[in-house]
Amino acid sequence: MTHCYQCGTKLVPRELEREGIVPFCPKCGEFRFPIFSTAMSTTLLSPGRDKALLIQQYGRARNVLVAGYLSKGENAEHAVVREIQEEVGLNVTHMAFVKSTNFGPSNTLMLHYLTVVDSEDLSGMTDEVDKAEWFPLEEARKQVLTPSLAQRFLFMALDRLEHGEIVLLQADTENLWQG
Ligand SMILES: [Zn+2]
Repeated sequence: MTHCYQCGTKLVPRELEREGIVPFCPKCGEFRFPIFSTAMSTTLLSPGRDKALLIQQYGRARNVLVAGYLSKGENAEHAVVREIQEEVGLNVTHMAFVKSTNFGPSNTLMLHYLTVVDSEDLSGMTDEVDKAEWFPLEEARKQVLTPSLAQRFLFMALDRLEHGEIVLLQADTENLWQG
């Protein structure tokens, strides 16, 4: 970023206490920190927590995870619930945050969640998805696209789940916009 995203003035380097040198807009009088996109993805479990859902999209025969960008003003938990609803028509009952990763190629901070939904019924799948299929957890590890960020996230989520390192909390879908 070489110019201010508010007013277009050329940014100048300025010392900020405890942060080091940060680009500064002399016209706005504001430091301008890096801008990047934020997206979520999720390892999605069946109600019995013994199967994971993999999807195919954009005409590509490869199994990945439900994922999507956050909307402006939206928090990550809301985006997780919304994307699952929009892509496969399922309702989240439980969720837990797993891991974040900075994905350089698209300048995106990816937030990975583990979620449980209320049904295995895929009849509510939308045209955003070409194909969706439940796999037993060990089979899902074999079927996910390799190598991929989806694979890394899936393995991380399942490993932590199997080692009892993840606490799945009931999703408070009424209050997801808050906080
Ligand atoms: Zn400015």
